[in-house]
Amino acid sequence: MHSLRLKLILGFLLALAAVIAGFDVFIYTAKRYALFEVMDGRLYAETLAISRHLEIEGSRLFFDPSEENGAHPPLPRVFRIVGENGTILAEAPSAGAVPWPALRPDGKNPQWRTARAGHGRHWRVATWKGRSEANEEIAGKSRPADETSFGFVVQCAEPLAAAAEELRKLVSLLAAVSLLAFLIAGGGSFFLAGRALRPIRRVNTALEAVSETNLDQRLDPSSFDVELHPLITQLNATLDRLENGFQRERQFTADASHELRTPLAALLNSIEVLLRRPRTDAELIEAHRDNERTARSMQAVVEGLLLLARMDAGKAEPAKESVAPDALVEEIFDAISSEANAKNIGLVHAIDSALRVQADPAQLRLALHNLIENAVRYNRPGGQVSVEARRTGEAAAIVVRDTGVGIPEDQLHRIFERFYRVDPSRTEATGGCGLGLSIVRKIVDGHGGRVDISSGSEGTVFTVVLPDA
Ligand code: ADP
Repeated sequence: MHSLRLKLILGFLLALAAVIAGFDVFIYTAKRYALFEVMDGRLYAETLAISRHLEIEGSRLFFDPSEENGAHPPLPRVFRIVGENGTILAEAPSAGAVPWPALRPDGKNPQWRTARAGHGRHWRVATWKGRSEANEEIAGKSRPADETSFGFVVQCAEPLAAAAEELRKLVSLLAAVSLLAFLIAGGGSFFLAGRALRPIRRVNTALEAVSETNLDQRLDPSSFDVELHPLITQLNATLDRLENGFQRERQFTADASHELRTPLAALLNSIEVLLRRPRTDAELIEAHRDNERTARSMQAVVEGLLLLARMDAGKAEPAKESVAPDALVEEIFDAISSEANAKNIGLVHAIDSALRVQADPAQLRLALHNLIENAVRYNRPGGQVSVEARRTGEAAAIVVRDTGVGIPEDQLHRIFERFYRVDPSRTEATGGCGLGLSIVRKIVDGHGGRVDISSGSEGTVFTVVLPDA
């Protein structure tokens, strides 16, 4: 399960563990450094003290362990002195326990090293290379120059057990304190994460109160923390869209029912009247013709609705084919020629036969059919419908122009709405179902294009712009 609270706590504890570990390592390293610093200083002082016990007598260097009048300081517990030729000049009784390291040839003097003996017993060893000059008193007056100085190495050692014990105690203390800090911070982070997420629970509670029946409710940003304001604004915008969508859906359902109720009532009424008494064949044929017209208008509504529903659901993805608009327009002219002839309306087009557009042929035919049919229906008798097509860069434009009644300026923005009619009584006469232009827009939108419209007393111009890709 993805839990924000868990993620916050884990993230915090991980960061805390890294900080505590870093702190512990720092304290441990500093303490170890300080311990070794003190020990190394002490060991070096011891090597110097031992060198004062060395004396030259005649042509040899020898070690005098006595302590006279402070001239020879007290000897350390573990040491040894190695002469120039590698012979041991002197060593403490316990020197055998130390694995004395050799002097590294890196030129540093003195040198400190940690020597590892068996069973984990380690020693810190200071090695100092000295040179003893014969003094006036010992050297005598005529001593040759090459006999006046002797090289030697003094090494002093100290077991590391005490320092190791001190470091062990420090580690235990650090572990205990770190664990305690970790536990306290862990508990605190659990509590704080809970508090930080409380506003989200409040948003949730507020949203739970919103349902289909009170979609007009909105969350008040000022009652939430400022960090949540963008979220609240977005939620309110989503609620706006939902409310509008529901509103449109309700309106659409009401309109669709209304649209079907009127012809259905007319149909039932006609059948009722027909059945009241026996009818002659002529009367029956007349009544059936009326009823067929009514049923066809209902069929147009239902088919229009189904098509829109399929397109709304994204189930009518347009194919992209190369279509010749001139052939398409001629087909449509043929289909509506009887309607145009009845009103004495001229149908003309001036489309280059070489022109091709990228579109779904069936969908483009339906869109152009609706536009041309409207141009005929809402035209004046003796008027004209003309269709042009041209290429404008990466797009093609198909223009349907009529000489009809026009559409009032203030209604232009509404005519693509479903079931919207400029003048319902006029439409009744023309037989439109109010879905034609919504279908046109839906199809053109699906092709990534747009429909422009301009209208005046001289007629109306619809321009369909289709991009190539
Ligand atoms: P209908 O089936 O009623 O024609 P449409 O969606 O095709 O529905 O058109 C919506 C309304 O727009 C029509 O009722 C009509 O009032 C108006 N209209 C559409 N095309 C034209 C046109 N070429 N000239 C004038 N009015 C038009």
